[in-house]
Amino acid sequence: MQVVEETRRLQERADQVRVAGRRIALVPTMGALHAGHLALVDAARAKADEVWVTIFVNPTQFGPNEDLERYPRPREADLALCRQRGVDLVFAPSEPGFYAPGHQTWVQVSDLTQPLCGQGRPGHFRGVTTVVTKLFLAAKPHVAVFGEKDFQQLAVLRRMTRDLNFDVEVVGAPIVREDDGVALSSRNRHLAPEARSQARVLVGSLDVAERAVREGVSRGSEILARVRAELARAPLACVEYAELRDPDSLETCPEALSGPALLALSADFPSAEGGEGARVRLIDNRVLYPHPHRQEPPR
Ligand code: AMP
Repeated sequence: MQVVEETRRLQERADQVRVAGRRIALVPTMGALHAGHLALVDAARAKADEVWVTIFVNPTQFGPNEDLERYPRPREADLALCRQRGVDLVFAPSEPGFYAPGHQTWVQVSDLTQPLCGQGRPGHFRGVTTVVTKLFLAAKPHVAVFGEKDFQQLAVLRRMTRDLNFDVEVVGAPIVREDDGVALSSRNRHLAPEARSQARVLVGSLDVAERAVREGVSRGSEILARVRAELARAPLACVEYAELRDPDSLETCPEALSGPALLALSADFPSAEGGEGARVRLIDNRVLYPHPHRQEPPR
């Protein structure tokens, strides 16, 4: 497995691979790799001849009060995991080096970045779209794989790729979960023990919504009322949002759901380190498929 730290070197390697007629699949990450990331590697393997992983804790997607400093950076363990999983190349630029001094160019997707995580994290998606653009131009991949865990991010990146005519196929991969259903995240390790057990409430709320839909409920307000009641069972969870949105446009769903609806959740929990400033923000989501004709009449 090759490890590359310089953008110029990566571009040269990409040109060589492309001239040889081989396809490159890229898996952008911020490191601290877990089974969720490795599932993206497997999905990438199925789409191309070479799998390239990028490991870069992107400072421009963190807000001033977010966890940039304490974000884990276990470089050697990450490289070992990539090697074991058959990754062909890791691009791990140095953090000050990937953005040139005086960087002032940004890529921004307008409407899709406004709701959900865009509300509480201004500037976050601008950082994501800018770094992914830089990674696309550095690695010149044919395919790029992102997790559905960050559903809004995936929607934003699909739109960016389409709007800017990037010649890259964007592939979404399903959410990988711990045994108890909690979505894998490098942030889970920061949760206080009691918060870790209450974090199950997110996936539990998705299950409640899915059951409601299976029972024939297709009124958005009824589904969200059941979700909020479930979330309230975890007193340590401070809910940021619980919303039903169109999976493509991310616009609010009509009250009578008539097609697929994204249920998106975000809540923060106390961290093991303690202190109000150090809460751990978790997100989860699921696309629901209501049966509009089985709906009970409104009461
Ligand atoms: P991150 O390193 O957290 O920026 O994530 C890198 C990529 O891994 C993103 O495309 C995420 O959506 C994806 N990812 C993170 N956690 C999971 C998970 N539990 N299941 C599937 N994909 C994930």
